[in-house]
Amino acid sequence: MKTLSDFNFENKKAIIRVDFNVPLDENLNVTDATRIEAAKPTIDAILAQGGSVILMSHLGRPKGVEEKHSLKHILKTASDILGVPVQFAADCIGSVAKDAAKKLQAGEVLLLENLRFHSEEEAGDVAFAKELASLGDIYVNDAFGTAHRAHASTTIIAQFFPTEKCFGLLMAKEIESLNKVLKNSEKPVTAVLGGSKVSSKITVIENILDKVDHMIIGGGMTFTFVKALGGKIGDSICEDDKQELALEILRLAKEKGVQIHIPVDVVAANAFANDAETQIVDVKEIPDGWQGLDAGPKSLENFKKVIMESKTILWNGPLGVFEMENFANGTIALGNFIAESTSNGAFSLVGGGDSVAAVKQFGLEDKVSYVSTGGGAMLEMLEGKILPGIAAILD
Ligand code: AMP
Repeated sequence: MKTLSDFNFENKKAIIRVDFNVPLDENLNVTDATRIEAAKPTIDAILAQGGSVILMSHLGRPKGVEEKHSLKHILKTASDILGVPVQFAADCIGSVAKDAAKKLQAGEVLLLENLRFHSEEEAGDVAFAKELASLGDIYVNDAFGTAHRAHASTTIIAQFFPTEKCFGLLMAKEIESLNKVLKNSEKPVTAVLGGSKVSSKITVIENILDKVDHMIIGGGMTFTFVKALGGKIGDSICEDDKQELALEILRLAKEKGVQIHIPVDVVAANAFANDAETQIVDVKEIPDGWQGLDAGPKSLENFKKVIMESKTILWNGPLGVFEMENFANGTIALGNFIAESTSNGAFSLVGGGDSVAAVKQFGLEDKVSYVSTGGGAMLEMLEGKILPGIAAILD
C-alpha cells in the first residue's frame, strides 16, 4: 500500500482528491470543518517536504454550475485551518486551472472549483480525468468518503499516474483501521449493528459473520428478528418481508459459531415521540399500541458483558432512537461500554453516519480507537467490496 512516505514531494506538485464536502449555512459559512481538518495532516506533510498542493473536491450535488455550491465559500476556513493562504482556480479544468497550477510555487496551496460543476466527474469521463491529471506530478487520494465511487477524480485519474500515486494519511488510516477489524483482528471480535432496518445492513451482516465471534443486533432491526422468532412486537418497526432472512442469519450464525445477542427487554413508548409514555417490557411481549424505541436495562447489562470481553469492536448504527433524549440511553450506554473496553486495551472502530453523530454528540470521539469519516464507503468495505478508489491506487 503506497502512502506519502513512498515519495519525495520536494518541488513536486501533488494533486490531492480531498473530501471538502462540508456543510454550509444559509450565509454560506462553513458550519462543520471536520473534513477540512481531517485532510490537514496530508497537506502539511507535503508542504513540509517542499512540495506544493492542488486540492480537488466536490461540494454538494450541483446540477451544473451553481454559485451556492462553489468551493470559494470555504476558502477562508481552509486558509485558517491550513495556516497558508489558499489560492483558488474558478474552474477545475481548462486554462484557468492550468495557469494557476503552473504558477504554483513550493509551499503553496491551490483549491480547484467544485468538480461536480462538470457532469464528467460523476460519469468517470476519461478525457476529463486526463485534464485533471495534467495539473500535478503525483496523485494522492485522501477522500475516503468517496472511495466507493468510480468518479473521474477518485478513480479514473489514477491511470494517468502509473507509479506516481498513493493514499493520503487519512485514507491510509481508514484502510488500516478497517483491516484491523476485518483482517488482522485480535479475538474476541464483536460487531454491534444497530439502526433502523435489516434491509440496509443485510450484506454487512452476511459478510461480517465470517469475521466475528459476537454480533450484537440492536435498534429497529431487533423487531424483525423477534417477530420472526414468534415474539409479540406491538407497533414496533418491522420489515415483514425480511423475517425469513432474519431466521437465515440466525441459522448461518449458528453454523459459523457466531454468538448473536439481541435485546431481551426494551423501552417501549405509546407513540413515536420524546414525550410519549414509556415502560420497560420484555422484547417478546410488547403490547399493541406500544413500540420499542430503545434497548432496556437487562439488554444493556448483557451487551456490557460482551463488550468488556471483546478485544476488537466494530460499531455501526444506534441502539435506539437516540435523536430523542428519552430513547438515547441505550446508545449512550453502549458508547460508554465501548469507551471503557477501549481504555482496557480493545481496538474499537465506529463508523456509519448515525453512530458517528452519536459518538460526537455524547463526547465519546476521543475515547474510541477510530471514528471513520466515510459512511457509505465504510459500509461497502464491511460488505466485502473492493472500493474502486482504493483499487485504483493499488493497481
Ligand atoms: P440507519 O440509518 O439504518 O443506521 O438507522 C439509524 C436510525 O435508526 C436512527 O435515526 C434511529 O433513530 C433509528 N432507530 C434506531 N432504533 C430504532 C427503533 N427502535 N425504532 C425506530 N427507529 C429506530
